[in-house]
Amino acid sequence: MRRQLIAGNWKMNLNRASAVALALQIVEKADGCPRADLAVCPPAVYLEAVGKVVAGSRVGLGAQNMFYQLSGAFTGEISGEMLRDLGCQYVILGHSERRNILGESSEFVNRKVHAALNLGLTPMVCVGELLAEREAGDTAQVIRRQFDGTFSGLNAEEMLRVIIAYEPVWAIGTGKVATPEQAQEVHLQLRQLIAERYQESVAQQVKILYGGSVTAENAGGLLSQPDIDGALVGGASLKAEQFLGIAAQARDTQN
Ligand code: PEP
Repeated sequence: MRRQLIAGNWKMNLNRASAVALALQIVEKADGCPRADLAVCPPAVYLEAVGKVVAGSRVGLGAQNMFYQLSGAFTGEISGEMLRDLGCQYVILGHSERRNILGESSEFVNRKVHAALNLGLTPMVCVGELLAEREAGDTAQVIRRQFDGTFSGLNAEEMLRVIIAYEPVWAIGTGKVATPEQAQEVHLQLRQLIAERYQESVAQQVKILYGGSVTAENAGGLLSQPDIDGALVGGASLKAEQFLGIAAQARDTQN
């Protein structure tokens, strides 16, 4: 049985006041979603302010990115240690916007995954195919390649501390959500890849979230699939009632 996680990726949105206000609304109503773990991932500059709001509540705090070095001459970068210092439990890594706009490779993301795990942070690691890759029938191959590169060198104990987010790039921010069946097919493939590389008991414990145009209206079908253990939510996480409306439909995953 896996407890579902609903995490909000606020991306490069909001300002300090609206980020604090959104966090407050979520914290105040979090008890209405007892079956979901909740997390918010504000822009790095608002982590401290949002962290104060969510401290001691059921809402976890996550960052949207980090660098793999602990400290040093890396202008503009933020280390995992700094994130921990701010009270983060989670960090999103390998988001498609970072892979595709900022040129992050799976090998680069892999270094961050190791660094996050070494610091006791829980990485939410994104994988997903482009529209052209899906249309060419290459989805399974792309997912396997990203999986192998991004999770290279992790032992079973480390894999158990990873959260995977399957985010088909064509579904992110487009309003074109994957059907529950399309998402389930890739989630099952990811679970089989974990079982192949580690063992079935590891595969059964790793949380695999779906992300890509999830809303309160379409969440029910996705969250009831046997291998979907929650959602990474972008646009809809900027509205408390949408985010909580998604979380209210969470249920333990059992397969
Ligand atoms: C995301 O970018 O992680 C995401 C899932 O975005 P959206 O929900 O807006 O598609």
